[in-house]
Amino acid sequence: MSFEIMRKLLSRGVTILVGAVALFQIGCASSGGGGADPRKPQGFNTVVVDPGHGGRDSGGRANKLVEKQLTLETALKLGEDLRGSGLRVVMTRTDDRFYLLDERVALANRNRANNAILVSVHYNASGRGASGVVTFFWRTDSHGLAVRVQRALAQETGLKDIGVVRRRLRVTRNPDVPCLLVECGYMTNKSDAAKISQPAFRGRVAAGIARGILDQLAQGDGSIPRVPELNEPLSQATDAREY
Ligand SMILES: [Zn+2]
Repeated sequence: MSFEIMRKLLSRGVTILVGAVALFQIGCASSGGGGADPRKPQGFNTVVVDPGHGGRDSGGRANKLVEKQLTLETALKLGEDLRGSGLRVVMTRTDDRFYLLDERVALANRNRANNAILVSVHYNASGRGASGVVTFFWRTDSHGLAVRVQRALAQETGLKDIGVVRRRLRVTRNPDVPCLLVECGYMTNKSDAAKISQPAFRGRVAAGIARGILDQLAQGDGSIPRVPELNEPLSQATDAREY
């Protein structure tokens, strides 16, 4: 652990004890398990695929696009692609139905024993003309996965690569498994929307996410930099920004 990381941890009110435990865990992981990288979601074989929104929650709307429809179609295709690659897939919804964010998190946690990861699929909206794809993560063990999914999604779609963003959301902070929220382009941007409106393009979105997941499964974190543990509370429904 570098001085810089320690300084940041301390500045966030993490006690020396927690730092010491983290050092101990890193020491254990590097001395055992054949040198396995503790950050890598090791050997996950289940992907909980979460089409954002649904039912009474339409998500964003712009340029005649309705987010809950786009996310469902994209996520179903993603599930097909992952199953075709031999992974077990659990869908949080397969039709136009509303589920609480906490129910989606709980479903992911029920699959923890199956070495699951959670991937929540969304499309973005903004009043400021923004464009591109962005992947949100929180957990340290999800950073490499986020980088690989973001990279593959940007390559596959050709949309602007905004990058990965560490954000404490219900579906990134609260699950007990590695997890991501992927925003697959801006419905509010004319250029993004023209592409997103095409089913074939949404197939490429799904293919990009699937490739990122499979890259992570095959390669782990590799040379992707570590991110420090952060001590923050669970995300609440009352938090300012929610998905
Ligand atoms: Zn959304």
